[in-house]
Amino acid sequence: MDWHRIRSDFPVLDQQVNGHPLVYLDNAASSQKPRAVINTISHYYERDNANVHRALHELSNRATEAFEQARKKVGQFIGAKTEDEIIFTRGTTEGINLVANTWGAANLRPEDVILYTGMEHHSNLVPWQLLAQRTGATLRHIPVLDDGTLDLTNIDTLLNEQVKIFTFVHISNSLGTINPAKELIAKAKAVGAVTFLDGAQSVGHLPVNVQDLGCDFLAFSSHKMCGPTGIGALYGRMELLEKMPPWHGGGEMIFKVSLEASTYKDPPHRFEAGTPDISGVIGLGAAIDYLQAIGMENIHRHDANLSNHAVQQMRGIPGIRILGPDGHRGSLVAFHLDFAHPHDVVEFANSHGVAMRGGHHCTQPLMKRFQMPGTTRASFYFYNTLEEINRLVEVLHAARKFFT
Ligand code: PMP
Repeated sequence: MDWHRIRSDFPVLDQQVNGHPLVYLDNAASSQKPRAVINTISHYYERDNANVHRALHELSNRATEAFEQARKKVGQFIGAKTEDEIIFTRGTTEGINLVANTWGAANLRPEDVILYTGMEHHSNLVPWQLLAQRTGATLRHIPVLDDGTLDLTNIDTLLNEQVKIFTFVHISNSLGTINPAKELIAKAKAVGAVTFLDGAQSVGHLPVNVQDLGCDFLAFSSHKMCGPTGIGALYGRMELLEKMPPWHGGGEMIFKVSLEASTYKDPPHRFEAGTPDISGVIGLGAAIDYLQAIGMENIHRHDANLSNHAVQQMRGIPGIRILGPDGHRGSLVAFHLDFAHPHDVVEFANSHGVAMRGGHHCTQPLMKRFQMPGTTRASFYFYNTLEEINRLVEVLHAARKFFT
């Protein structure tokens, strides 16, 4: 793979920040966009812009065709049985809220348990907590070990027949841990629990196939995988989607409306009220084309090389504590330096052109578990280079000199 040529597809990377070449290492928060995606969105607005699904005129037909084509691409990309199992959302957060408010509200009783893990992003905690308050269901979690993996010692007690839904993150945004999704989903199925996989950090980074994994739901965000912000997708197994009541009501999701009552369309349209983010959906489709042309296996391998190199190099910095597993991990390294607060480290790095994130990364329970107010996180994508990681390490050594 010619990774340097691929990098040149991303115009934003070619700039100086604070007098230094930009080193963008905040990809777990949001990735950059290749020219192919930017051009697809511009082309849509310049040539095809119209509302979808409603009119019979040429532009609306073109917009609808491109929109529904993107649904097919998403479905194929994650191995759904049919594209009707793909619901467009604003992102991972909205996908989780949709399931909690529809499937959850219709199915959970006070005697039921919602199981999640101690490494969830707030967006995979708060919607379930709200649901537990509404339904009386109990919340339970799988603890996290010191090495950043799940403590599965008591899994058969935690994941028992009381569990109605087991929801967990595929790759942790704060630890880089890649959870054994297929095995955990099989265990959940054995006790009759529905499964929800938070794919925010995995879908753009490794091959994800919902039929192979066996999950009932999967949510992810376009902006973390080369696509535009404000759009994402929720996969739901059709047998479940068909039985779920709508969430948002409005245009597009109805079959018949009277002044007294309404009937609703079949999935996925039942869950897509109002005018959707048409250019976002088309941009997501272009991002998927782009990623597939590189190959998800290649991306995963390159990601792993970058994070292995980073961990090896960063271990040499005195006073560093690296979170997460020693072996195979996602493309990010979160760490704590005993000589400076994460916000100071991030500001210092920024003054040298290196973009990272510092704080709790929307995982406050996990920070409490590791007794840290927050961490600094360097997160990579396939357009990053080993030279950029060396530059990061150089800057961290300089930070040590500066702060001590
Ligand atoms: N889950 C994980 C693991 C994440 O990393 C993120 C984004 N930081 C989310 C959920 C939420 O994604 P979004 O803000 O795009 O809805």
